[in-house]
Parts: sequence; structure tokens; C-alpha cells
Amino acid sequence: MNALTRLPDATVILDPEALEAYRRDESHVVGCAPLAVVKPQGPAALRELLRLAKGEGLTLVPRGAGTGKAGGCTPTPGSIVVDFSHWPGEIELSRADLCLRAPASAMLRDVKARALEAGLFYAPDPNSWDQCSFGGSLATSAGGVSACKYGMTRHWVLSVEALMEDGEIHRFGIPTVKNNSGPNMAQLLTGSEGIFGMITGATVKLIPTPQQHLTLLLPVKDWHELLDLPTALTDAGFLPNAFEFWDPAVLEDLRRHGPETARRMPGEALALLEFDDPHCMEEAFLERLLEVLGPVATDIQTATDERQREALWSVRRTTSSHLKERFPKKVSEDVVVPRSRIRDFFRVTEALKLPMVTYGHLGDGNLHANLLAAGETAPEELEAQLTSLFRTCLDLGGGLSGEHGIGLAKRQAFITMSDPYLIQSLRGIKQALDPQGVFNRGKVI
Ligand SMILES: Cc1cc2nc3c(=O)[nH]c(=O)nc-3n(C[C@H](O)[C@H](O)[C@H](O)COP(=O)(O)OP(=O)(O)OC[C@H]3O[C@@H](n4cnc5c(N)ncnc54)[C@H](O)[C@@H]3O)c2cc1C
Repeated sequence: MNALTRLPDATVILDPEALEAYRRDESHVVGCAPLAVVKPQGPAALRELLRLAKGEGLTLVPRGAGTGKAGGCTPTPGSIVVDFSHWPGEIELSRADLCLRAPASAMLRDVKARALEAGLFYAPDPNSWDQCSFGGSLATSAGGVSACKYGMTRHWVLSVEALMEDGEIHRFGIPTVKNNSGPNMAQLLTGSEGIFGMITGATVKLIPTPQQHLTLLLPVKDWHELLDLPTALTDAGFLPNAFEFWDPAVLEDLRRHGPETARRMPGEALALLEFDDPHCMEEAFLERLLEVLGPVATDIQTATDERQREALWSVRRTTSSHLKERFPKKVSEDVVVPRSRIRDFFRVTEALKLPMVTYGHLGDGNLHANLLAAGETAPEELEAQLTSLFRTCLDLGGGLSGEHGIGLAKRQAFITMSDPYLIQSLRGIKQALDPQGVFNRGKVI
């Protein structure tokens, strides 16, 4: 590792104690200690690092802010972690092209804030939006509460700059929404979890900022009736920009042990709905909406100003950390089914008696299934429970991950349960782009 100390334009960490901090992200996966952590500050560092890694047969594990929930940036044997937090560059916005370019090191919160300052909107909003990096959000194609209306990160990406296997930084794509010049490499890199190359920056599209928000807290009388609401809303012509939910067990836990605001929450289960349509604060909109919500809800609370809105959202934002604090060894899976199959998902998992509680994104079928007793469950039993959960989603036309990705956490399940042709194709692409397996080896496929 001595050669690393001579890397140009980089900070290199070799101290074993400091390296320990890089063994994990926010998933339950713990990797081995990396051989080193390198914080590159320019292309020369990356180029030289790649040359060294290839020469020694090592793998480079890109890392943003380490908030990932799939173990994607955790080291495997022979890893050097490439921490992008020192990568240079400014956030640049073009009003004429309605787009924004930022380096991988930018924090997502700063990217979103820069757009807002200009009266523009960058929608991707993972719940970790104030902690994660722009680069990490691109590499995982992060989704969030607004994905039910605005899609995921990949739906906003116009071009990506990345260090590829030849040691050069290439730009794929152009700063326009209309670009149909062959298969799209920028999209291939977005959501690739660092296995095809290392993203150094990207250009994303922007739209005018929605001006109005109508936020509703919806306590429901009968939990199972809530499960038909996503379809009832779209049938009635409504498309919320957020539709979150808590099942009875999660709601009860929050009421008993959660923050003060959560203790007063009524209902058997709970949903949080938000609309940002141009006339959503007008009475006619609300009246029409209540015709759909009324039969399901008991005591709807609405927030129309920022302070009330923030109060309603604060419980949702803290649900993940609340459960993690209460059940540190829990396993959380962010499975997904089509919106129309949500009720079937719960019918099947209840019949299977899967010991899980759920909350998450009802508006797009991305359900955070938490196995709270995972720490006390025998490994083979836990494995069987996860396999049943995944199989249920696949049988209903869904997938293993709605937003967090595959990483190390779901690699085995992804390989064994996917169409073999898909895995073979992805491995073929990996072989073509990274024949020596230098980028994030042992992840995803
Ligand atoms: C409380 C909490 C809430 C969350 N909520 C959501 C949510 O709502 N939606 C969601 O999608 N995710 C969510 N996440 C997961 C995570 O925050 C997101 O996936 C986030 O985008 C990861 O960004 P990061 O900078 O932390 O990436 P990291 O965790 O550092 O890395 C994630 C993956 O991207 C790769 N990577 C990182 N940087 C680069 C790069 N420059 N080039 C190539 N590959 C790279 C890594 O190798 C790894 O595979 C949540 C996490 C937490 C802790």
C-alpha cells in the first residue's frame, strides 16, 4: 500500500482504526476493513489509483456518504474505498436549459436547495436527502416519497460523467431531455451501484417548482381498506406527490415509544397524503378528494402552511431511525409490488404469517418490510422468511428492491431468483466495461 502514499491529488487513510469506520453503511451488512481509503481530489488521482488497483488485482469501492441500505459501499476482501467527499466542482444551474450540473461530492440537500433558490425543482427526495451525496443518489438511482408522481433519480438524469476502465473520465449524454442517439450509457451508469465505473458528476433536469401543497394525515378505521386507496385515487383522477403509510403494528409502536407528536396519532393505521397540483388548495379540489377519502378515514387533518406541513411530515421522517433504535438488529427490506397488487401482497404475507411490520410508500407499492426479531431468529429461518417475502413480490409482478438497490445485502437473492438471462446479460456488460472486475467487485451480480 506504500504506492498509495505517492498518489497525486488525494488524501489517503491507512490507519487501521480510521479504516474501521468504512466497514459498513446504514444496512445490516458489515464488510471487512478496507486496505485503504482514498479521497481523490482530481482525475490524476483516480487514473493512478485505477492503474495501481489493476496491477495488484484489487477492487475499488466507491463511497458517497455511506447512507446506503444495501451494503453497496461496504468493502469485500482486497478493497480500496474511494471516498468521493473531496471531489472538486461547483453546482452550476442553467435556466435556459432547465438543468443543473453537480459533482458527485455535492450533498443532495445542496443540489435541491440550489434549484429551489432559482425557483426550480429537482424532485428526487430519498428520506436521507439531507445526509446523502449526489453521487450516491445517482449510483443507487435513489427514490423517495415523491417517486409515485415524479419517478426516481434515473428519470431526472440527462448526462453522467464517470471514470471508466480506460482510466479516463467520459461524459455520456447531453443536457437536453431529447436525446435519442443510441443506447443510453448515462442511464446504464445510473443505479449501477458502482459496478461499471465511478461517477464523478452529472447533469439533471429541473422543472418549475410546484407552488401549492395540500398535505393530509389520514387515520383509517380499517387497515385493509387503506390498501385499496391508491387505486381508488388514480381511478378518480388524483395523482398524489406523496402517499405514505404506517401499518397497525408500526403505528402502535410509534404511539407507545415514538416522539411526542406520534403519541397522539389516531386510527387503526395511518396514511400521509400530499398533492402539489396547481389548484390543490382550492375548496373544489378538497371536496372532490374527500369524496374518495371520506369512506376510509376517521378524522382527517389537513396542513396548508409550511409549519403544519412540517409537523405532519416529521413523524414519517423519523420512522426509520425510531425503529432502528428500538430494534437495532432488525432487517429491513424495501420490496415493491405494482400498486394494483398491494392488497394481494398483504393477503399473501398474512397467510404466510411472515413476522414483519410495514410502512413506506403506498403510492408506488414500495413497502418497507421490517423483520424486527431478525436478531433473535435462527439464520436458516430468517433466510426462509426473506425468501418467502421476495418470492411473494416476484409472483405478484414486483421486485426485490424498490429504491435501496441490491448491493451485497440482496446479491444472492437477486442472482438466484432473477431470470438467468438477465444475470447473464448484466455479467456480459460488466465483462465488456470492466474485464478485470476492478469496480466494486462482488456486488449486485
Ligand atoms: C434514514 C435513511 C433513509 C433513507 N431513505 C431512502 C429513500 O427514501 N430512498 C432511497 O432510495 N434510499 C434511501 N436511503 C438509502 C440511501 O440514503 C440512498 O441510497 C442514498 O442515495 C445513498 O447515497 P450515499 O451518498 O450515502 O451513497 P453510499 O451509501 O456511499 O453508496 C451507495 C452505493 O452507491 C455507490 N456509489 C457511491 N458513490 C458513487 C460514485 N461516485 N460512483 C459510483 N458509485 C458510487 C456505492 O458503491 C454504493 O454501491 C435511506 C438511508 C437512510 C439512512
